[in-house]
Amino acid sequence: MMICQHFLIELTKEQEEKLFYTLYLCRKLYNYSLDQRIKHYKEKGKGLTYREQQNMLPQYKKEHPEYKMVQSQILQDVLRRLDRAYKNFFEKRAKYPKFKDKYHYTSITLPQCEEKRNFGKKGYVYIKNIGYIRIIAHREFDPSKVKAVNIKYHAGKWYINLSVEIEEEKKVTIGEKAIGIDKGINAIAATSDGELYSNPKWLQKAEKNLKRLQRQLSRKKKGSNNREKQKRRLAKLHEKVANQRKDYLHKISYNIVKNNDIICIEDLQVKNMMKNHKLAKSIANVGWGTLDTFLEYKAERSGKIFIKVNPAYTTQRCSRCGKIVEKDLSVRVHKCECGLEIDRDINAAINILHEGLRQLGIAA
Ligand SMILES: [Zn+2]
Repeated sequence: MMICQHFLIELTKEQEEKLFYTLYLCRKLYNYSLDQRIKHYKEKGKGLTYREQQNMLPQYKKEHPEYKMVQSQILQDVLRRLDRAYKNFFEKRAKYPKFKDKYHYTSITLPQCEEKRNFGKKGYVYIKNIGYIRIIAHREFDPSKVKAVNIKYHAGKWYINLSVEIEEEKKVTIGEKAIGIDKGINAIAATSDGELYSNPKWLQKAEKNLKRLQRQLSRKKKGSNNREKQKRRLAKLHEKVANQRKDYLHKISYNIVKNNDIICIEDLQVKNMMKNHKLAKSIANVGWGTLDTFLEYKAERSGKIFIKVNPAYTTQRCSRCGKIVEKDLSVRVHKCECGLEIDRDINAAINILHEGLRQLGIAA
């Protein structure tokens, strides 16, 4: 069976420029080929096949000499992508293929590779005209088993996805290594593995203490010695609780990053824009932003993938059947007609995982 392994890659400035240019050329070819199919259908009343378009490729390259810099196999893959888009449309899995802008055409694929040619230098992948690209491999992979290479740009970073042939018994599924995280209201975080990280009791207690001191302070006379003393006590406790909370978030993020290779999380900026005052207050309480930051730098440091996804509908959508199940903040359990009944935040975490993998081009 085939599995997919993902790593960050490190590029020189020149390589990055070349890759961006390659993406541009591939996208241009994709759009040109789509246009060609549409026109052909209008004029002749029947579509073009992949084979027919591939046969026209040499002529196109002659007219556009800039395509010399892109390996033929990569260009053929562009045509294959378009062909798949049409197949998906005809088999009612997708809408009619669209022209792509640069935000929707973000990867190139080398559909066949050879160990000697593409992985001859340890720790690098060789792509014709781009050169040797350093792979930040956080775990082993067997170059002799790599069948295809996909290079992808996402949110300011470049990744390599390797399609690797493995024996059946060594079955590894992406789901075991990838995780979705929902930053809930009752829990600090819920994961697609079904884990709920709650606000620990001692932290809740400390926060109660803090509130009590705050109330006492407000009753003390302004300018009095007692008031100053109380102020200092409060500041000290504030710091202590903040540190404890940080420690706790360090532990959670450490565990999550250690056990996973791909970490998918909601984009907090987008979530904040959803403007719900009650929600905003809880956000501040549980330190969602801090958890994000910790996860991100820990993931980066260990060469793992950290990806932010749009949180729209992640709470309402059923993670099993896709149906929208409306629920307000007080409803704790996601209960769907399809029979799925799970914690609302875990349901959201699974949707976040799916969305993240989709963005990375790993799963539909
Ligand atoms: Zn369902």
